[in-house]
Formats: sequence, structure tokens, C-alpha cells
Amino acid sequence: MKRQLLLYIISVIVSLGLGATTYSVKEIPNVHLADSTRFVSNPDGILSADGEARINAALRRVHGQTSAEFVVVAVDELDEDIDEFATNLFRAWGLGKKDTNNGLLLLISKNDREMVFRTGGGMEGLLPDGLLGSIIRKEIAPRFRNGDFDGGVLAGVNSVNSILLDPAARQEIMSRYANDASDSDDDLGDNLFSFYIACCAIMALASLLMLAVALLNSRGKDRYAKYQALNKIYPAILFLSFIGLGMPLIALIPTMVLRKRMRRGPHPCTRCGTPMQLIDEQHDNDFLSRAQDLEEQIGSIDYDVWVCPNDGETEIIPYLQRSSAYKECPVCHARTYRVISDRILIKPTTSNEGLRQITSRCVNCGHEGHENHTIPREAEAPKIIILPGAIGGSNGDSGGPFGGGSFGGGFTAGGGARGGW
Ligand SMILES: [Zn+2]
Ligand SMILES: [Zn+2]
Repeated sequence: MKRQLLLYIISVIVSLGLGATTYSVKEIPNVHLADSTRFVSNPDGILSADGEARINAALRRVHGQTSAEFVVVAVDELDEDIDEFATNLFRAWGLGKKDTNNGLLLLISKNDREMVFRTGGGMEGLLPDGLLGSIIRKEIAPRFRNGDFDGGVLAGVNSVNSILLDPAARQEIMSRYANDASDSDDDLGDNLFSFYIACCAIMALASLLMLAVALLNSRGKDRYAKYQALNKIYPAILFLSFIGLGMPLIALIPTMVLRKRMRRGPHPCTRCGTPMQLIDEQHDNDFLSRAQDLEEQIGSIDYDVWVCPNDGETEIIPYLQRSSAYKECPVCHARTYRVISDRILIKPTTSNEGLRQITSRCVNCGHEGHENHTIPREAEAPKIIILPGAIGGSNGDSGGPFGGGSFGGGFTAGGGARGGW
């Protein structure tokens, strides 16, 4: 009787000591290699036989319909960090088709109370890390905490399968986890949007700064100088308002109002102080010279003519139209001079410079001028040396010794999610 008790105690100690098997990557039984219908490696019986059969059926179904290689491995203990282990196991077995990298591994280490999803490169889009993290926290971990390993794995597998079988269902499943503040795709979208909003705010601040600098720089100067300063920054602020969700309007509106006021706002006569009157376009010709009238007609300068109703004092203010092709004539100095031809007289070669002639004519005084420019020698064609072997390169990680075997030789970049219970 005593001997029996002693044997019993020894057997308990031995079973406790050996009970927790610690695995290296090589020691995990690759059940799929032995039997291609099996996708669950459960050497320690963490899953019941019935549970394993149901999980395996689900994994087989998704493999049959999508070719995704989704494998579940549940063991007592691992000989290294579960993240490292999952990546190494994934690569050693070469999960997923080599071209689509549609492998997926769920690795469970019971004694560490930890699990990891590891995705192949081709799965990361459909199964983002945040979503897999949610499945761990919402579906698997709560059941594991109650000791229900079959139910936890099955719930996790079913969640993943429903996405793999119907990618359209992904949105619905992700919204089910919406209140889970994790790094899901939606949060990424929110973050990008917040970032954009912040950029727009910065654009608004930059616009205000431009306006402040323009006002400071033209402080104490006349209306014309102020108008020019505002006119200079106006296109940039207008552009920022378009791309900045309208936020830079905070600077655009004052810029437009001030710009208009500086040009067309009421102002007193410098001689008597009576408010000046703006003469309309039809009648301002009476005050302009022939050259100024011509400049207005060809659109190179717009003139504003102001007259004092009291003493007849006139103010003629020129506004250069920057977009006009007309430049100042070197002879009559009216802005009525433009390029009429641009010819290459001598073509450049690799040994000699070329010559280009630009001819301009003034529509006011008829002056015609030529400008000659040399064209630099043409550059010699660069010599390209192609080294043998430089093209092609390595074929990367081919997925390990089982690449040509039962799994497809897929590769993981380490995507997935980790969680405990
Ligand atoms: Zn006056
Ligand atoms: Zn001229």
C-alpha cells in the first residue's frame, strides 16, 4: 500500500515535470505535412478531440474556398518569445501560397497564457493588426479565461473566416469592434483626418503670418505700396484656402477687403482734403497719354484715374498686369514691347555652342530689338555600364524547407497581433 502511494506520488511529480512540454520551432508537429487535410497542431491536447475536429473543419473549408492557409497551433510552452516563435514557425512551415502570401497562423502558448496571430504579407490588408487584436480581446481571450479553449479558438477562427470568405463582411465586423479603442483601420483613417485638419490649421496660421508680414512691411507707405504688398501674397493665400478646407479664409477675407480698399477705397485730395473721385474706364482716357491709353488697350497696365472735384487735382495710378507678355520698351519706356520671334540661328553641337535670337517689337514707337543668346554645348551622352549580375538580385526568403511541400512557401513580414488572457 505504501509502495503504491509512493509510486503514485512519483508518477504525479513526473507527470507534473514532464506535463508541460517546452517546444522549439522544429519540435512542433507539422500535422499538415503528414495529412494535408489537417490544419490544427494540438500535440498537448489543449483542444478536445471534438473541438479540434470542428476547428479543423472550419480551417479546411476556408482553405478550400479561398486557398488561404490558416493554421492553428496550440501547445503548453514555447522555448522563446511567442512573437519570435510565431514568425519563425510561419517561415519554417512556409504558410501561404508563395505568390499571394495568404498564410495565417494562430499560435497559443497555454502556460504563458499568450497567443499570437501572424499574417502573411498578402493578408495584412484584409486582416489588419488592429482587427486581429480585437478578435483576440473580444472573441478568444474571454473564453480562454473561462477555460474554454475549444470555444475561444473556434470563435476566433470563425471571425477570421467570415472575413476571408466574404471580404465585404469586414466592414461590418470592424464596426462591431468600433468601440474597441485599438489601432484599427478606422482609427488610422481618423488619425489621417486629424492630421489633415492640423495641416489646414497650420495653413491658416501661415496665411495670417503672410498677411501680418505684408502689412508690417508696407506700414507707413502709400496706398499703392500697400496694395502691391497685399497683391503679392493674395494668390498664395487663395491657393491655401482651396486646399486647406477654407480655414485660411481667416486671412484671405481681410487680404481681399484691404486690397480692394487700398486700390478703390475713399481717400482725400493731397492738396485740399476733399474726397477724390474715381473716373470710370470710359472717361479716364481723357486724362491718359496716347501711350498710357495703348497700354490699357493691350492690357499691360491698368490705370486708375482719380480727380478732385474741388480743384481738379488728378492722380493717375498704374497697376502692372503681371500676366501680360508686354514689357517696358527700351526706347519709349511704355509697357508695349513684346517678343515677336524666338529663333535658333546656330544649333549647338557637342563641340560648339549654338546661337539663339530673340526679336521684340514695340507697338507704341515701332522700335524693334534683337537679343542674341549663346546656347551651351550639348552634353555627351553618359556612358552606362551594366555589370553582369547587377540585375536580378536575390530571391529573398523562400519560406523554408517545406516551401515545395504541403504549405505553399509563403512569407510573413511579422504582421498580426498578440494578446493574453
Ligand atoms: Zn483737391
Ligand atoms: Zn517704344
